[in-house]
Amino acid sequence: MYHDDLHQAAEFAHAAVASMARFSIPPTPINFTIWYEYHAGRDPALSHAIDSLLGSQTPFTPETTLQLYEEFLNPARMLRASRETTEKLASAMEELRHFIGAAEEDTRAYGDKLEHFSGKLDSQVQVHSAPALGSLVGAILQETRSMQERNQSLEDRLAETTAEVQLLREHFEQARREALSDALTGLANRKNFEQTLTLFAKMAQDTHEPLALMLIDIDHFKLFNDRHGHQTGDTVLQLVARTLSDNVKGQDLAARYGGEEFALLLPRTRADQAVKLGNNLRNLVNARKLVKRHSGDELGRITISAGVAEYRLGEALSSFVQRADAALYAAKRQGRNCVVAATESGSGKAAAAVLPG
Ligand code: GH3
Ligand code: MG
Ligand code: MG
Repeated sequence: MYHDDLHQAAEFAHAAVASMARFSIPPTPINFTIWYEYHAGRDPALSHAIDSLLGSQTPFTPETTLQLYEEFLNPARMLRASRETTEKLASAMEELRHFIGAAEEDTRAYGDKLEHFSGKLDSQVQVHSAPALGSLVGAILQETRSMQERNQSLEDRLAETTAEVQLLREHFEQARREALSDALTGLANRKNFEQTLTLFAKMAQDTHEPLALMLIDIDHFKLFNDRHGHQTGDTVLQLVARTLSDNVKGQDLAARYGGEEFALLLPRTRADQAVKLGNNLRNLVNARKLVKRHSGDELGRITISAGVAEYRLGEALSSFVQRADAALYAAKRQGRNCVVAATESGSGKAAAAVLPG
């Protein structure tokens, strides 16, 4: 899934081609995918693998690149992995079903034996034969012990299978979390945002409580990247992301909406409250003096612009997002480093139309 806009995609593509030329790697589609992904930097595991190959000066032979592709990018492999997990889960379930069936059978057989003994016991008691009674009790004891042993081994196997199922559950949970979060910043990703937006809008509809949406965009970020490099840009994205996640609370959702754009979903929040939060965040970001970690070079400061919209009951979600987007656009037109709220009654266009030019 690629959401990169034209500029971004072109940037990653150029960097990919340059890297392939530098390391004398043939620009095949597979190699291009690997190096595009590397420069997009969305998969820390892939970046790490390539960085350590570069670090150890391992040549990028066709085998090496195929291995990278297989491990990190091949969609068929990912599908296969998820199918394998599902199959493991199904077989664990089948085993459990089998255990329960066996336990039931054992219990029934034991019950039958007891029944049989009790019949014998009735007749023995009538004849008051002590030795016969003694051997009967011995037989019952033996049967009970072996039943206990069978139960114990069933219990052990059950515990093993339960642990296996638990592991698979964690596996699934981890995969689910990864599928819903952004690899670079750890915030919710676009898909998560869309799902949560639908959920929150429904909640607002049901409870008639307000819901605010804030779209945030870093100002002149292309310039920053051009000056200081994409990797430093990535660090700034992480910094902004942390500022957002550290300063929202409870049910609020902070998401990476696109390249250098973020979105906040704020339940039980009116537009004016969201604008206040936006200005807070804007000040926090702007207050940070950026310094390059290794060289100590000063990188100046960055600013963000934001657009806020409050959900109108019954409104289409696309229109809600569009109004916040138009407000963000208005903030950019007003000179950036500011927060603008969408007009409550107007359409998205109206928010932008109040501006000159
Ligand atoms: P504006 O103030 O109008 O928003 O200007 P801008 O330069 O921020 O906007 P523009 O849309 O022209 O460029 C966005 C830039 O954001 C392009 C790209 O270099 C950068 N960018 C997008 N995604 C990433 C990313 O994942 N990492 C880095 N480092 N930069 C990114
Ligand atoms: Mg942008
Ligand atoms: Mg921008």
